[in-house]
Amino acid sequence: MQRLFAYAFAAVIGIAGIHAGASAAADPHLTPDTSAALERISEHSLRGHLSFIASDLLEGRGTPSRGQDLAAEYIAAQFRRAGLEAVGDDGYFQTANWAFAETNLKDFSFRIDSGKEQLDIPASELSFSLAQALALAPSAIVNIDASDAAALNAHSTATLAGKVVVINLPDFEAMPPEQARTAYGGWQFFNAQLAKLRPALVLLVDRAHPKGNAGGKGRLIDPENSGETVSPIPRITLHSVQAIRALDASRTGGRARVSVNVAAPVERAVKLRNVIGVLRGSDPELKNTYVMVTAHYDHLGIKDGVIHNGANDDGSGTVSVMEIASALSGMKQRPARSIVFMTVFGEELGLFGSRYYGRHPILPIRQTVANVNLEQVGRTDSSEGPQLNNASMTGFDFSDVGTVFRKAGKLTGIDVYKNEANSDLYFGLSDNQALADQGVPAHTLCVAFQYPDYHAPGDHWQKVDYANMAKVNRMVALGVLMIANDPVAPKWNTANPLTRPYVEAWKRQSSQ
Ligand SMILES: [Zn+2]
Repeated sequence: MQRLFAYAFAAVIGIAGIHAGASAAADPHLTPDTSAALERISEHSLRGHLSFIASDLLEGRGTPSRGQDLAAEYIAAQFRRAGLEAVGDDGYFQTANWAFAETNLKDFSFRIDSGKEQLDIPASELSFSLAQALALAPSAIVNIDASDAAALNAHSTATLAGKVVVINLPDFEAMPPEQARTAYGGWQFFNAQLAKLRPALVLLVDRAHPKGNAGGKGRLIDPENSGETVSPIPRITLHSVQAIRALDASRTGGRARVSVNVAAPVERAVKLRNVIGVLRGSDPELKNTYVMVTAHYDHLGIKDGVIHNGANDDGSGTVSVMEIASALSGMKQRPARSIVFMTVFGEELGLFGSRYYGRHPILPIRQTVANVNLEQVGRTDSSEGPQLNNASMTGFDFSDVGTVFRKAGKLTGIDVYKNEANSDLYFGLSDNQALADQGVPAHTLCVAFQYPDYHAPGDHWQKVDYANMAKVNRMVALGVLMIANDPVAPKWNTANPLTRPYVEAWKRQSSQ
């Protein structure tokens, strides 16, 4: 494997920083300047930031929303205060010009004729995934069991033409993570196969959530990936208890029919923003290489009429990025490499903001040596039990980044450990994946993988342990400094077969 940079002058970097890191065997030690920087990280400051970022005013920071724009402006203001270099297309903003297809409920109707009764279902009890208008005359339904791998063998484009396929939506949230991942894989495969058979409509029966989102406010359209975010087959999710009962009753001998009328969505332009600032390094060469500290600042917005504040997910990571930027920007002696602070949009919808950055890197990927992505670093009441004074990193032994942070933890009183059950499982579940796919050694650091209120309305800022979060922040700041001051960049662990795609991506970057 090639390294990005093979600096021969490693030994002559005369910086007053930490003289150890990914490559060095010696334990790091703290200089007064470094200690002072770490002491600037304050639990009160973190609480202050998060009480705003996770306030009801920001309405859960959905992508896109005015609340998210307010959050972006606040983060940019903090980067400005810290004196970070603005490297976006618009100050601290990297702007993605996307479109939003607004659900259009003009002349909407959805009717189930069970043979015995006719039910008109309101849009509030449905969710839509429609690329265009849908006008369906009363159509026969076909029940298919998505959990049966052979269920589609009995069907063809001929048997499903003009039909409404009714499927029970698996309740992934109720499953343990490992089972959910397997089930989700099977579910995606099933849906891909079903789409090939081109039924007129797929009707998903959601028994876990009695309320729909009236088609949501709409759906995002990424002009670079148009068509990928929505199924080519129209899909409607049914939450209505009475309609589900009627459909269930019609399974035995009934002849239920479904008719639908939904107008085409109305498209409008939206601007989505990553917020990015650089603390420029001090070494004449290494300052053109970058260590990235990231977090996603979006959350779920308003769901079922309820604000989801997402204080821990991922308000905690967002305010940590701001706090660490502020603390390190006050150092008398800047680290050798540059440190990039970035908060991204759209993680909850599928890593949209970080993937956008991966496709449009502002700073060269080849010169980006590592990414630590912060997620759920605030709450210590993990579903696995209390998590005081520790933190875990996903893909812990995928690269030597984990070892660096373990050393940083030793000096700051945080046990940075490999969570055997979750380390690999969660690697692909946050924004580090977008940078890993480009070849950058990238990991997510968290305190709690799962916790009460995860993706629920109760994820409030008052439930965060700020003293512990400040301590974790000090560890992260030190780990970042260690990488930034080490002339040898972190490397993927080629002995671990799970790193193969990232190692390949790294090689491609290096050969460009
Ligand atoms: Zn989340």
